[in-house]
Amino acid sequence: MQRKLAVANWKMNGTIEKLQDIESLTKIHQQSQVGIVICPPATLIYQAVQITNNSNLQIGGQNCHYDTSGPYTGDISADMLNNLGARYVIIGHSERRNSYDEQNEDVYARATAAINCNLTVIVCVGETAKQKKQNITLDVVVTQLKECIPNIQDARQLVIAYEPVWAIGTGKIPTINQIHLVHSHMRKQLNKRFGSEIASQICLLYGGSVNPHNATDIFAIPDVDGALVGNSSLFSQDFSSIIVALESSKF
Ligand code: PEP
Repeated sequence: MQRKLAVANWKMNGTIEKLQDIESLTKIHQQSQVGIVICPPATLIYQAVQITNNSNLQIGGQNCHYDTSGPYTGDISADMLNNLGARYVIIGHSERRNSYDEQNEDVYARATAAINCNLTVIVCVGETAKQKKQNITLDVVVTQLKECIPNIQDARQLVIAYEPVWAIGTGKIPTINQIHLVHSHMRKQLNKRFGSEIASQICLLYGGSVNPHNATDIFAIPDVDGALVGNSSLFSQDFSSIIVALESSKF
């Protein structure tokens, strides 16, 4: 059975008071049958983990370095995230790729470090607006899957988020058919690489302007196992509605 997952990416938002949102989500969704992951800024991870202990919410980081420790001012290692109690980490988000010039090989190295530290890695892939215009979405995604994803032994080590860059924070989303096409293609590629037993269990998220109004339609798409949510996850009622939509979607 594939695991359904709702992941909140808070990006560089939230100070101590915002931890209240996590506390209320643990109460509202204590019986939830889907996975719920909050990726707050690194400054809140330790307290977020304390709040979510004994709940079914888990905490993730938004990035990690490829090395375990060393002279990398400002960076955080996968080992450090694990030590704080984080269980997931987002790698290769387009904002990291754009602002810090992270290439596929960097994503691969960071994802490898994360897996080696027993974190579940959420690898982001997706085409830019220009690539979409050029009609090369599938080629871009296939190359990213090939170059960014390390070998895994267990489907629980890996989550893939298809996030068209042009859909992030813009209010625009691809058509249902486009999302379906990309997700079924990703599943096929994973089948080729890992075999059907593992590939069928890998959680494939859609990300890019998911909100309470479009979530139900997105979760009805075959091979969409959940969402990576940016903006809407900053409003706990909206994120909660997205979780409810996922809970109500067909397993
Ligand atoms: C994201 O940044 O991963 C994201 C999906 O953002 P938004 O939901 O705001 O488009």
